Amino acid sequence: MDTGLGPAAQSELFETNPPPWELAVEDDVTLASIVFSRSPHGPYDYRIPDSLREELKPGMRVGVPLGHRKKPTPGWCVAVKEGKAVHRKLRDVAECLDESPLCDASLVRLVMWMSHYYQVPAGQVFDTLIPSSVRTAAGTKQTTYFTPAKGLSDAELEKLPAKQQVVMRFLISQNRPMSSAELAVAAKCTADPIKRLKKKNLIVPEVRREMHSGIRILAQTNDGETERTHHLTEQQTAALGRITAAVDSGRGRTLLLHGVTGSGKTEVYIRAIEHVVAQAGSAIVMVPEISLTPQTRGRFESRFESVAVLHSQMSPSERHFHWQRIRRGEVQVVIGPRSAVFAPLPNLGLIVLDEEHDTSFKQDTQPRYHARKVAHARAMSLGIPLLLGSATPSMEAWHATQSGHAELISMPDRVAGRPMPDVQLVDLRVRDERGGGGAISRPLKLAVDETLREKGQAILLLNRRGFATTIQCPACGHVVACPDCDMPLTHHRDGGKAMCHYCDYTIGTPPWCPACRFDGIRYGGLGTQKLEVEAKAKFPHAKIARMDGDTMKRPGSHQRVLSEFRSGEIDILLGTQMIAKGLDFPNVLLVGVINADSALHFPDFRAAERTFQLVTQVAGRTGRGDRGGRVIVQTFTPEHPAIQAASRHDYFKFVEEEMVNRRKFNYPPLGSVARIIIRGPVEEKTEAVADSILARLESARDLLNSEVRILGPAPPPIVRLRGKYRFHLLLQATEAAVVGETIRRALADFKTDPKEEIEFLVDIDPVNLL
Ligand code: ADP
Ligand code: ZN
Repeated sequence: MDTGLGPAAQSELFETNPPPWELAVEDDVTLASIVFSRSPHGPYDYRIPDSLREELKPGMRVGVPLGHRKKPTPGWCVAVKEGKAVHRKLRDVAECLDESPLCDASLVRLVMWMSHYYQVPAGQVFDTLIPSSVRTAAGTKQTTYFTPAKGLSDAELEKLPAKQQVVMRFLISQNRPMSSAELAVAAKCTADPIKRLKKKNLIVPEVRREMHSGIRILAQTNDGETERTHHLTEQQTAALGRITAAVDSGRGRTLLLHGVTGSGKTEVYIRAIEHVVAQAGSAIVMVPEISLTPQTRGRFESRFESVAVLHSQMSPSERHFHWQRIRRGEVQVVIGPRSAVFAPLPNLGLIVLDEEHDTSFKQDTQPRYHARKVAHARAMSLGIPLLLGSATPSMEAWHATQSGHAELISMPDRVAGRPMPDVQLVDLRVRDERGGGGAISRPLKLAVDETLREKGQAILLLNRRGFATTIQCPACGHVVACPDCDMPLTHHRDGGKAMCHYCDYTIGTPPWCPACRFDGIRYGGLGTQKLEVEAKAKFPHAKIARMDGDTMKRPGSHQRVLSEFRSGEIDILLGTQMIAKGLDFPNVLLVGVINADSALHFPDFRAAERTFQLVTQVAGRTGRGDRGGRVIVQTFTPEHPAIQAASRHDYFKFVEEEMVNRRKFNYPPLGSVARIIIRGPVEEKTEAVADSILARLESARDLLNSEVRILGPAPPPIVRLRGKYRFHLLLQATEAAVVGETIRRALADFKTDPKEEIEFLVDIDPVNLL
């Protein structure tokens, strides 16, 4: 048994010195391999007692003895196998906690793959896969049902007290199990006679778990758009043909649908899913949570009988309710954010990942999985297609089409012969262009005026929320920063708060400098709140709405703003990247990008890619009607290749140039990267741990004779977060497996001193390098 623990630890877990007869008697036994979400994680083997042999299957939760704990410890069964018990002392599985497996065999395989690839204990992956609402059976209650005991004679019945007789006779006549409440009503009695019958063993109880009947499933409204079926364009027809052929091939393969904004990708997804559903199959559609708008929902709900929309604002009972429906095979299409990749559909025939380039598909807490990677693993193991879609495919997806790992399907034109919008760059270095102060340049001001005159709508993108992004004293230079993260606080006008955008630390904005008491502290930098104030002053007759993380906290507010925008009540919608994604409003004649450089100067090898994607995506929100559309992009670096390419809608030029940059350093997609973050309360001790991890990585690399580049340890751009000092190490190699194996070797039995509170975490394929 590979316990992953040293011999000393193992003897604490398992009693030593088993009595001799236990060794001798057992020969061939059935074993269950069990993993745990808390340490020790296993897997450990247990003997399955005869009483559970029929019942216990992989994917079920069990209770097993572990160490010296009195009560059985809950764990997950990952395998059932025949084995020999000679020479080892095995303990018995104590109980099965589920009636049927929560994961079918293919999902158990997925868990084991994720555990290996992302280097996370399998028990923790199970906890991610199976929502806690399902594990705790949220929204259900236990009810006891009674049936009459067998072999009860008439004579015995006669002897019972009158009330008990009525109950017994009724129960016998009904010939089905009945709850105590039901019986009491029917027999017009209290609970007492029923209790007495139970005590005498004349009625047999059976406990069942059921959904509350009163469970409230939020009405799934849409925002007024009516979806019709369209005659497919030629490009859509060709794309659909390739996808249905892949579905019919019964093989696992990846397809990349590269379709420009407004090329009608959603219609293609819907038709492809109709094809799957016609063969009694089902599909998963993942979209970034932000684009899970009423419109997206409505498009699917009007075309399929049973759609389950999963989102983060569901109550636990709702989530559990949907999960059960999905598992019973009652759902044709599951739509949701990245966690929808785990939806337990029994006849899964297609997985769609829309906006596959979006960073929200990577989870930033353990297990740090990427939905694209997991979807790929799941699709391949089931032999079904994975369909990726984007107007701005990630470098990873693009590279896959070039290296033969994915098939490229192109839709280079918008539907209905609509042209791509005109993009005009405004060089903010030029004084005349900037206009008289403020964030809205002269050309943008003129364009908005014109749009409003034509009764069109405008979208303004600024990727910073809050009012001012720095609060600085002009006298002493002091910047008001978060005490836990060392990052500048952002001033929010509503309520006069200064907030840390990394940890939510909040104070009242100081009226004078906290360092030198100078009273004339300045707000610098620009956030959406300040832009809103400026826009209201510059366009006094327009109705303006702001959409960002601050305004969208209340459930339903996102939906309300969008439907007001659709109905034309709102003229200008301004906000962060949440307005850049997926919206399809025909009357948007103008998109303004306030500062295209905001993402460009991040210390991240994907900075150019993010910038290209953001500008292209938001530009794609216009020109979706018959009146065309235009885009104004304000920038300090109009010559930057990413901005140039975005302004010409030239994805190919962008990837070509960007691939050269990536190749220089073997960055993904040409190589593989992993990141190890070490954090702790004391800087020197944290760094010391980082250094010892480096030493272990180096010796693992030498041992494996692998070509892995190790960078660091170094302080990451965010040096301190929530009061913890941070260091990181980056590993790079051409093969993901080599990086993974080096880390696995290096950290296999690495433990930190719990007293020092230093944690380390492994992030495979990181998308965030801050
Ligand atoms: P994308 O996701 O590629 O940006 P959408 O799926 O949002 O594009 O489609 C853009 C618009 O075009 C939607 O309003 C959709 O209803 C419409 N549309 C899709 N296919 C067709 C078609 N074949 N003919 C006319 N309109 C279409
Ligand atoms: Zn902070």
